[in-house]
Amino acid sequence: MQSDSMKFGTKAIHAGVEPDPSTGAVMTPIFQTSTYAQSSPGKHKGYEYSRTHNPTRTALQQNLAALENGKHGLVFSSGLAAIDAVIKTLRPGDEVISTNDLYGGSYRIFMRVFANYGIKFHFISMQNPANIEQYVNANTKLIWVETPTNPLMNIIDIKAVAQIAKKAKALLCVDNTFATPYLQNPIDLGADIVMHSVTKYLGGHSDVVMGALVVNSDELHEQLAFLQNACGATPGPQDCFLVLRGIKTLHLRVQRHCENGAVVAKYLSNHPKVGKVYWPGFSDHPNHHVAALQMRDFGGMISFVLKDDSIEAAIQVMEKFKLFTLAESLGGVESLCCHPTSMTHASIPKEEREKAGLKDSLIRLSVGVEDIEDLISDLEQAIG
Ligand SMILES: *Cc1c(COP(=O)(O)O)cnc(C)c1O
Repeated sequence: MQSDSMKFGTKAIHAGVEPDPSTGAVMTPIFQTSTYAQSSPGKHKGYEYSRTHNPTRTALQQNLAALENGKHGLVFSSGLAAIDAVIKTLRPGDEVISTNDLYGGSYRIFMRVFANYGIKFHFISMQNPANIEQYVNANTKLIWVETPTNPLMNIIDIKAVAQIAKKAKALLCVDNTFATPYLQNPIDLGADIVMHSVTKYLGGHSDVVMGALVVNSDELHEQLAFLQNACGATPGPQDCFLVLRGIKTLHLRVQRHCENGAVVAKYLSNHPKVGKVYWPGFSDHPNHHVAALQMRDFGGMISFVLKDDSIEAAIQVMEKFKLFTLAESLGGVESLCCHPTSMTHASIPKEEREKAGLKDSLIRLSVGVEDIEDLISDLEQAIG
């Protein structure tokens, strides 16, 4: 069966995965080899060296491409290595327009690494996509979007930004880490590149660090595959196997993340000690209608502030959690909480954080797939 005729759950389990031709092994083996025998110089079975190609990696790349409705997938040793490859397609003098509410590590590689190589970055609010047009000029080569944004859960209209990118002859890259391909497929909405921190929901078990890109264009794929091999930030076969295994339950996990997320978001919004709750599923979220159009559901990522808007009160709650482990990262089966200001977003200067509306007392939750009654009890005892 061709993967483009399969539904999502079937693709998650089958796309890219064929019984191993040499043994019939149903699960893709971990091809733990760096090199491959050649019968004569240059004559081989499509594999020469594992930085360039590895069969376990190939299966995962094909699977990811199918999940994102793209033609080509490429995996990297981290989400940041995937971002690194995208920016390396640019040249000094090129300009990037990025959303201002984004993952701290993305901001850091843009400003502390690539700005030194002559690439210019603009960080702007994209909740009204028309705002982008005033930053477009002849040097604009890339628009960088994260939606839902991290950690404020703003929603950006991918289709509208894709039209602006097309008119500007710039590429649109969407960091789809928070939504996952189960909830949102940016290529279907006009994006050129989809980027993932596979570390999060795709891996899903907080045991692998990996990144991915998916594209439709053969030319862009060739350029990015060249960079993947030339720069060499490729994951090993064991990690590729773990992610292939994790993805088999992606649809089931994300369904439960969304169900639990909805209950937690509503619980928090009714709690007398809780102030604003940031979650795109609320009908009064500023871009709820866009989320409802471009996403299948609203996800399990929720941020909130307490009415007592002090860092101390927020820290006290985070220290009291028993099930919500205080840790960086997100998207695993277990629930996590994080303090973006001092953890994931510490590399963004305070003025930039404040401009984006990120309060120092904000708590971010990655709602896991545990029993919801236990999660609510944990919130109850921690918030009081
Ligand atoms: C974690 C994360 C990244 C970076 O990915 P790594 O795998 O940690 O390198 C990029 N974007 C988002 C939205 C993330 O959450």
